[in-house]
Amino acid sequence: MTNTPDRNLALFERAKKVIPGGVNSPVRAFKAVGGTPRFVQRAQGAYFWDANGQRYIDYIGSWGPMILGHGHPAVVKAVQDAVLEGFSFGAPTEREVELVEEILRLVPSMDMVRLVSSGTEAAMSAIRLARGATGRSKLIKFEGCYHGHADALLVKAGSGLATFGNATSAGVPPEVVQHTIVLEYNNIEQLEQAFKLHGQELACLMIEPIAGNMNFVRASVPFVKRCRELCTQYGALLVFDEVMNGFRVALGSAQSVYARVLPGFEPDMTVMGKVIGGGMPLAAFGAKRAVMEHLAPLGAVYQAGTLSGNPVATACGLATLHEISKPGFFEDLSRKTRSLVDGLKGAAATAGVPFCADSEGGMFGFFLLSELPQNYPQVMKTDGKRFNHLFHGLLDRGVYIAPALYEAGFVSAAHSDADIAATVAVAHEVFKTL
Ligand SMILES: *Cc1c(COP(=O)(O)O)cnc(C)c1O
Repeated sequence: MTNTPDRNLALFERAKKVIPGGVNSPVRAFKAVGGTPRFVQRAQGAYFWDANGQRYIDYIGSWGPMILGHGHPAVVKAVQDAVLEGFSFGAPTEREVELVEEILRLVPSMDMVRLVSSGTEAAMSAIRLARGATGRSKLIKFEGCYHGHADALLVKAGSGLATFGNATSAGVPPEVVQHTIVLEYNNIEQLEQAFKLHGQELACLMIEPIAGNMNFVRASVPFVKRCRELCTQYGALLVFDEVMNGFRVALGSAQSVYARVLPGFEPDMTVMGKVIGGGMPLAAFGAKRAVMEHLAPLGAVYQAGTLSGNPVATACGLATLHEISKPGFFEDLSRKTRSLVDGLKGAAATAGVPFCADSEGGMFGFFLLSELPQNYPQVMKTDGKRFNHLFHGLLDRGVYIAPALYEAGFVSAAHSDADIAATVAVAHEVFKTL
C-alpha cells in the first residue's frame, strides 16, 4: 500500500455526514461485503475509474442499463442534441411517440405503453392498473423477486403456503400489504393452491421471468406455463416485470425467450426500465389496449408524472434501442457473456471451488454452489463469507461485480474478448485463495 490518501474513503466519510449511509440507494454502500464503496469519477466503454484514478472492468453497468457500455458515441450524440432542444416541457413530444412505437415493435405483446421515470413507478402503476382493470385487490408475487419499493410490493415470503405478506420494510403498515400473497418461486404446487384459494380475488400475478434480484434464477418453463394457464383461467393479469430482463436477455425481452419454447406465449402486462432509458431515468408499463384504456385520461385509473417521457431520457433510450436492434448485436453479446461464464466455471473447477453459473443474452449470474438454485432459500445457501472474499479479491484486481451475492451481473457490447480473458485470469487467481 502506498501513502496516497484514499479519496474513496474520504468521500464516503463526507457523504455519510449528509446522505443516509453515504449513498442514494442502499446496495451501493457495500454493507453486505464490507469495505469502502468506490466513488466513480468517470466511465468509458467497459470501464470506470474511481476517485483514486483506479480502473475497473465494470460488470454492473448501472445495474443493467449500460448495455452498450459507457459513453457510446451514438448515444452521447443523441443526448447532446436533445439537451440543446430543451430538458423538459411538461407537454407531449414526437420523441415519446417514437420511443413507444419502437418498444411496441420489439415487444408485440403490448398494444400501448405509458412512460414513467423509474422501475418502481412502473411496477407500482402496473399494479394499480391491474386492480382498476379487474376490480380485484389481491396480487401474487414471489419470494426473491424485486419489483421496486412501492409499499404493496415490499414484501418477501413468510414461510408456508400462500402466506400473506409481512412487510420487509419498516414504515409499511400491515393493512397496506394485506392483499399481497407471497409464494415460493418455481413452486407449481403452491401456485395452484394459492389460485384455488384466492383466484377469484386476484388482480394480477407479478413475476421476474429470469429473476435477477436473487442473482440469476430462471422461472422454469413448466412454471411459467402454469402461471399463464392459471391467470387465464381465473381472469387475473399475468405481469412480467422485465425492468431488468427487458432488452437485456434478448431483443424481444424475456417473454420472447419463453415464447421460443411455449409458442404463442404472452404476458398480459409488461413492466420495463433500465435498458430502455440507456442510463437515464426512464421506465414504462404496457398491455393490450383494453387494459391500457383504463388509464387516465381515458379511464378511471389515475397515473401521472411531471418528468414522464422526458425528452433527454427518451433520446437516450431511442438511441440505445437503435443500437441493440442492429443485426447480430445479441448474438455477439450472448457469445461474450457465455464465454465469461464458461471461463469462470473453468477457473473455479481448476481451483476446486464449488461453482455454477448461467446466462441469457447480456445478463449472467454465478453461485458458490455446485447446483443452480431454483428459489430464494436455495440462493441464500451460498456461503456469504466466501462470496465476500471473492468480491474483494476481484475488486482489488480491478474487476467490479455486484457487492452482494443476490445480484446479477451484466456484460456490455463494449466488453472486448480481451476484457473477458483478463477477468477470467483474475478470477483464476482469486479462486486459488478461496
Ligand atoms: C431495478 C428493478 C426495479 C426497480 O427499478 P428502479 O428504476 O430501480 O426503481 C423493478 N423491478 C426489477 C425486476 C428491477 O430489476
